[in-house]
Amino acid sequence: MAPTTTDAKFTSDTFDTRAIHAGQIPDPVTGAVVPALSLSTTFAQTNAGEHKGYDYSRSGNPTRTNFETAVASLEQGKHCLAFASGSGKYILPGYLISTQNLQESGLVSFIVTTATVISSLPQGSHVISVNDVYGGTFRYFTKVASNHGIDVSFVDLANPNNILKYIRPNTRLIWIETPTNPTLRLVDIAAVAKIAHAQKDVILVVDNTFMSPYFQNPLLLGADIVVHSVTKYINGHSDVVMGVAVTNNDKIFEKLAFLQNSIGGVPSPFDCFLANRGLKTLHIRMRQHQENALFVALALEKHPLVDKVIYPGLPSHPQYALALRQSRGFSGMVSFRIKNANLEKSNKFLSSLRLFTLAESLGCVESLAELPAVMTHASLTPEARAAIGVDEGLIRLSVGIEDKNDLLKDLDQALKKAAAISAKI
Ligand SMILES: *Cc1c(COP(=O)(O)O)cnc(C)c1O
Repeated sequence: MAPTTTDAKFTSDTFDTRAIHAGQIPDPVTGAVVPALSLSTTFAQTNAGEHKGYDYSRSGNPTRTNFETAVASLEQGKHCLAFASGSGKYILPGYLISTQNLQESGLVSFIVTTATVISSLPQGSHVISVNDVYGGTFRYFTKVASNHGIDVSFVDLANPNNILKYIRPNTRLIWIETPTNPTLRLVDIAAVAKIAHAQKDVILVVDNTFMSPYFQNPLLLGADIVVHSVTKYINGHSDVVMGVAVTNNDKIFEKLAFLQNSIGGVPSPFDCFLANRGLKTLHIRMRQHQENALFVALALEKHPLVDKVIYPGLPSHPQYALALRQSRGFSGMVSFRIKNANLEKSNKFLSSLRLFTLAESLGCVESLAELPAVMTHASLTPEARAAIGVDEGLIRLSVGIEDKNDLLKDLDQALKKAAAISAKI
């Protein structure tokens, strides 16, 4: 019998069909095509301990399950867990890499325990992270994890073999993003996975936020866990903060599920409902994000007031070949440098934009522009920023899905206003 949308495990070979049907069961009582939003915190039991799969909403919620099922399907994973923020997952590496019970229990509760208790924990494990990692991840690794006995090395992974120089006997996790933020450098996921798995007990985590599952599936390239800030492309409408972790590994899943319940960092059912609704148009949005981003990137590359454009979909990108090999597209993030840029010019450009909103975040329907050195990457030290090429002239665009000619016109008029500053000097 052909599968129907009443089958929760409905699968299709096509992403577009799965985006709409995976995890969606019409309401068995009313037939409502959109599964009801389940706000109930508790669930009736027939006999003590006998229930329909749900007992308490922190441990499991039907609306959350629907969303997790949909994301797992799109990421080609067996299991997915949703957390109250994309950063919620960052407490997980500490747990995953800890081996001693004492340390485990301490790390599990570190968000609710005093720093003193935490800093009394034994020194723990070592993590290798790509050097131009998301600003919030960098802050977590250097300011929080380091206080919990976790040592992180930040490594330039343009050449994945660089990892070998940093591996220690206690290295337990490699954390990468590709493309990186905001310089859009790529990391060869398959090569890093091979190196990770040649070591004993080292797992690879890939932050796939910038590509979304539509353009890249790291699990298929050997990653052990894929994480997303749902806040960005997956929800896509700038109205939910949430994160997910997807894995094929049953053991990792059990640990994460235990933590999701113990720490209680679960998203609200309403947010899961919204994110699931957003997810159903992910494929349509991503195609338009990419079309618009490529259009803008090509035009900026020819623009007389622009110095350099970084977009993995441009043949001028140094890792264009890798982009074609490991992804199905290039997504909607574009970074560029204004000619003879300085802080004043960047500010003039950003404040002159009318359609692009000057704001942090990314991956949603509306176009955004920002200055990483002052905004998203302010938590990096000046040295760390310099090392990855984030200076006051680097602008990051999250190209939305408005009309692409309108977007270009807006960038052009703002570039001219910025250029007029130096003309006056
Ligand atoms: C936004 C973002 C995060 C953090 O996620 P939140 O949803 O803000 O907690 C992590 N990684 C990347 C690449 C991001 O863009």
